[in-house]
Amino acid sequence: MDHTKINLLVRLQHLDNQIESIVSLQKGLPEEINALDEDLAFTTRQIESRKKVADDHLKLRQRLQETVNECKDKIAGFKEKQTLARNNKEYDALSKQIEYEEKEIAQAEIQLQDIAHGEQRSQEIQQKGRQLIAENRYDEITEEMMPDDLLGQQLEDLKTQVEQKREELNSIVIETAADVDHLKGKIEDQRKLIEEEAKRLLDKYDHLRSGTLQNAVVKLSRNACSGCNTRVPTNRHTMIVQGGFYLCESCGRIVVHERLFDEAES
Ligand SMILES: [Zn+2]
Repeated sequence: MDHTKINLLVRLQHLDNQIESIVSLQKGLPEEINALDEDLAFTTRQIESRKKVADDHLKLRQRLQETVNECKDKIAGFKEKQTLARNNKEYDALSKQIEYEEKEIAQAEIQLQDIAHGEQRSQEIQQKGRQLIAENRYDEITEEMMPDDLLGQQLEDLKTQVEQKREELNSIVIETAADVDHLKGKIEDQRKLIEEEAKRLLDKYDHLRSGTLQNAVVKLSRNACSGCNTRVPTNRHTMIVQGGFYLCESCGRIVVHERLFDEAES
């Protein structure tokens, strides 16, 4: 067996492991940032939808108030005309117009009351939420129970957190960028070399690594595959010790003697 081929592959695994350990320095920060971004978007949507409701209420209140004022002006005008009415017919006609405007005012006032009641209700719901928070009963709080000020505070907290995590990640990325580039270059060269010398081994390696598995080539450890801990048959040990490889029957990984990793490192 040509043992130099497997040495080339172990070297590739060694380089890929190095990149992996650099990426692990990021300590799950990219995932944390994604989760915070989602929370941030959710909180922003909540605040925006509350603002929209408040804006709509404000506009409607202003419009209704204008209607009331216009009606009152009209009534005042009609009343003045009534003092100048020349006969009962004219007077009664003006009375009917006043009655109509009064009904308009009454309707607008009912709508204004509805808005006020709605707003009061939502304040009461928020008050309930504040109480639950004070009692640490967070699982009982619904979206609408979250008080406006605490929702705003939550948004600010999330912004600060996500910014800190981003800065932390950026500094790690910047610190390690040169090493990562250097390793990527080495990996590319190594892959080209194996492509020419041992294409089938490289295909096997890539196939093993196509899922979530990172370590396609592993050490023989205590007579077992260190990838899955399945025992390697005794009659294969000699070949492994001699610098050959064994395909684990259980997980399919390529098992080699640990000496080969030491050699790949140097
Ligand atoms: Zn295995």
